[in-house]
Amino acid sequence: MSGFWFTEKQTENFGITIKVNKTLHTEQTEFQKLDMVETEEWGNMLLLDGMVMTSQVDEFVYHEMVAHVPLFTHPNPENVLVVGGGDGGVIREVLKHPSVKKATLVEIDGKVIEYSKKYLPEIAGDLEDARVEVKVGDGFLHIAESENEYDVIMVDSTEPVGPAVNLFTKGFYAGISKALKEDGLFVAQSDNPWFTPDLIRNVQRDVSEIFPITRLYIANIPTYPSGMWSFTIGSKKHDPLEVADERFHEMETKYYTKELHKAAFALPKFVKDLTK
Ligand code: SAM
Repeated sequence: MSGFWFTEKQTENFGITIKVNKTLHTEQTEFQKLDMVETEEWGNMLLLDGMVMTSQVDEFVYHEMVAHVPLFTHPNPENVLVVGGGDGGVIREVLKHPSVKKATLVEIDGKVIEYSKKYLPEIAGDLEDARVEVKVGDGFLHIAESENEYDVIMVDSTEPVGPAVNLFTKGFYAGISKALKEDGLFVAQSDNPWFTPDLIRNVQRDVSEIFPITRLYIANIPTYPSGMWSFTIGSKKHDPLEVADERFHEMETKYYTKELHKAAFALPKFVKDLTK
């Protein structure tokens, strides 16, 4: 069978290599290199600037863990915001919460939305839902213009390079605090402890200087660098480790469970040390 091997270098000296059957679309957008490829093992896969963003086979881990941990932590999330997330996976999970009345997505690159809808329909399919408002724009600016508006904010961005570099700054986290309601909370993907420990340490430091409750949790994502992925939560009032059992309602998931909600915060020693 034709095809080629795509390698994502995760450090200068280590990477993963993926058998690609064919390229479905490739272009240099206004913001990044966008590749949509069909892979042998992981289904259709979105790459941005040569980095794996999401794949049909393992996408559920990340999207469930970004959405359900904060949304079950908040007692009644009604108005939520997703920064980035143009593939639509986090929005799909957000809409499983009946309390959510409005979900706003702010994605800087409209091409990500366009080609996710075309080649990742089971991930992007809910972006047309009546509760969803999609805005193509810079999430940093949207946050700067928001005040006392959201119950939960989820930052589903690319790595801190290119258009996402501002989304890992203390100023952005201060803006998130302003954009949240008085008992709001946010989560941001915070990369991996193996190759980017300093990033996690810095994010934890910055967020904990702004939010009274700051926590780190992890999940296994096989197509992401090292396979161990981290998420940082900053909360004004509600603690993700203090969620009453009755808060959890039945929901169709493939990774997230009520038990895992708490277990995800049980960190290996070398990871826990990054939160000190
Ligand atoms: N799950 C992926 C990960 O963990 O790396 C991220 C998925 S999603 C495709 C990341 C999105 O963030 C991209 O579509 C990118 O265009 C968007 N993005 C980057 N910087 C942004 C910004 N400043 N405002 C809004 N969206 C941004």
